[in-house]
Amino acid sequence: MTIIDGKQTAATIKAEIAAEVALLREKGFRAPHLAAVLVGHDGGSETYVANKIKACAECGFTSTLVRLESTDENPLATERLLEEVDKLNCDPEVDGFIVQLPLPRHIDEQLVIEAIDPAKDVDGFHPVNVGKQSVGLPCFHSATPAGIVELLKRYGISTRGKNVVIVGRSNIVGKPLASMLMQKGEQGDATVTVCHSATDNLATVTRRADILVAALGRPGFITEDMVADGAVVIDVGTTRVPDASRKSGFRLSGDVDYANVAPKCAAITPVPGGVGPMTIVSLMSNTLEAFKRNHGL
Ligand code: NAP
Repeated sequence: MTIIDGKQTAATIKAEIAAEVALLREKGFRAPHLAAVLVGHDGGSETYVANKIKACAECGFTSTLVRLESTDENPLATERLLEEVDKLNCDPEVDGFIVQLPLPRHIDEQLVIEAIDPAKDVDGFHPVNVGKQSVGLPCFHSATPAGIVELLKRYGISTRGKNVVIVGRSNIVGKPLASMLMQKGEQGDATVTVCHSATDNLATVTRRADILVAALGRPGFITEDMVADGAVVIDVGTTRVPDASRKSGFRLSGDVDYANVAPKCAAITPVPGGVGPMTIVSLMSNTLEAFKRNHGL
């Protein structure tokens, strides 16, 4: 059984990006620049954004964090957030930016996503990028699915002709991953099944998977009886589970019952250290791509 090490793979890719950036700097270009907008003080979002800023430093990028306050007593006006998005859209020194999700409930996330210039949408969430992806045109690919595809590629796991079953149909993981893996070509050519909460006989479907992707946000949901012998299992889930023995008071739990599922797999991603670091590295790749397009490279 192979443990698919996303942390190590992400470190390798960040080093590759940093080497490319160093060459660009030698040629006189400025550093690629990623901005992140963080609304309020959600604990998970704070951590994700901090990790993205840290990854920027490792890749030789400039980063900017735009913090906007929002509390129950004093909620941020959507117009104020849209103003900030517009500023970043118009700033020639910013190659790409993200608005960290989830946003406070009173803000319409889709409205904000659609306000981002698709040419700077390095999260790949804008419908223009989603649409281009689905018809196989060059675009910014959604970061988590792109990270999964890259991880499979770097571990020599072909998807060609394989039965891939994805549990979860969110706009940021399940749907774009299905779309990427069904495309014609080396990193696609899979026969993809997407499951969700209305899927009948889920275990029967998941047991048919050569490659099983769990993206539901339910700790330990995928049990041994749901996985075929020799399957490749990709665990996207990251749920904070209370854990008094940890300084933070929680631990991250995946959607797969790792201890019992891992022994029957050909390969499996751990949580943490699997898909998570690859998501961040995809964002870095997209930012470098945005920089290159911005400079006609
Ligand atoms: P989401 O938007 O909450 O969607 C969850 C999906 O799971 C939905 O499609 C839902 O079905 C399906 N589902 C829920 N319960 C189910 C059940 N009992 N049987 C079958 N399907 C079920 O989730 P998400 O944003 O994609 O995130 C999923 C997990 O991945 C979360 O833990 C999240 O934190 C994690 N995540 C990790 C990364 C990373 O970088 N590692 C990135 C993104 C997300 P319906 O559509 O029918 O409701």
